[in-house]
Amino acid sequence: MIPTYRQPVIHVEVTNVCNLVCSNCTRFIGHHRKPYMMELSMVEKALESLYDFPNKVGIMGGEPTLHPEFEEICKLVQKHVPFEKRGLWTDGAKWDEHKDIIHETFPEKQIIYNAHDDEEVGEHQPLLIAAKDIVEDRELMWRLIGNCWVQWRWAASITPKGGFFCEVAAAQDWLFDGPGGYDLVPGWWKKNPNEFMDQVKRYCENCSAAIPMKGVSSHSQWDTISESNAKKLEEVGSRRYEAGDYKLADFKLTEEEINQTVKEGWEPWSHRPYKMNKPDERFVEPEKKFV
Ligand code: SF4
Repeated sequence: MIPTYRQPVIHVEVTNVCNLVCSNCTRFIGHHRKPYMMELSMVEKALESLYDFPNKVGIMGGEPTLHPEFEEICKLVQKHVPFEKRGLWTDGAKWDEHKDIIHETFPEKQIIYNAHDDEEVGEHQPLLIAAKDIVEDRELMWRLIGNCWVQWRWAASITPKGGFFCEVAAAQDWLFDGPGGYDLVPGWWKKNPNEFMDQVKRYCENCSAAIPMKGVSSHSQWDTISESNAKKLEEVGSRRYEAGDYKLADFKLTEEEINQTVKEGWEPWSHRPYKMNKPDERFVEPEKKFV
């Protein structure tokens, strides 16, 4: 685990509504019974709480351009976040409507445009397989969680329920009616791992991000889940679970199998071999892959 203040990005998750339903979505789109659009006052409080955060501040969802006050959100970003620190993660749902303010607000290289519409590429690491269901060696499980790549490569997060050390933990909290995150007092993110262990203990053993395994095409029609999470999805009335759009993971993994997966080139952070900052413009940077 790394301190929250060293994470590359903290996202403000302005909605959990999306126009897509990708397989094994990091935000569990398709499962939610409780869609939200973050109030502008909450967006402002979130941005104010990140004053001085040394790395990037992301606007994320769901699909952020679907927020009915997306333009006002951009103006709040302009007011509170230095230009070079701003980022937007979008599938371009309302690109044509908002492209002017998007370009006015965000540096072009920090607009992460991913329409998830390329049938040839796009894999997602399953996230709803509880590590505790498939790794019986608990020492190994916690060692893998301690090295979770989401910590190093992705983001911490703010939802209407507060601040979280990890974006996937934040999504779990919303889906499973968790107790919420940290109060958004300025500098809430200045936490070392020993100060967010309550969240680590609550969410990480119910997550599969840190466990090396084969990815699933984001164009599949189902999520991969394990038994303990299946029970919880049933309890919260998950729409995807009720529709039967899932496959049950009933396997266990040994250390040898996990090592083999890593040796075969496990790169769960890499969704596709090129980057886009706007529609119809793909580029590849040497030796790099992008989420
Ligand atoms: S194991 Fe899951 S909840 Fe824990 S840090 Fe990794 S992605 Fe976040």
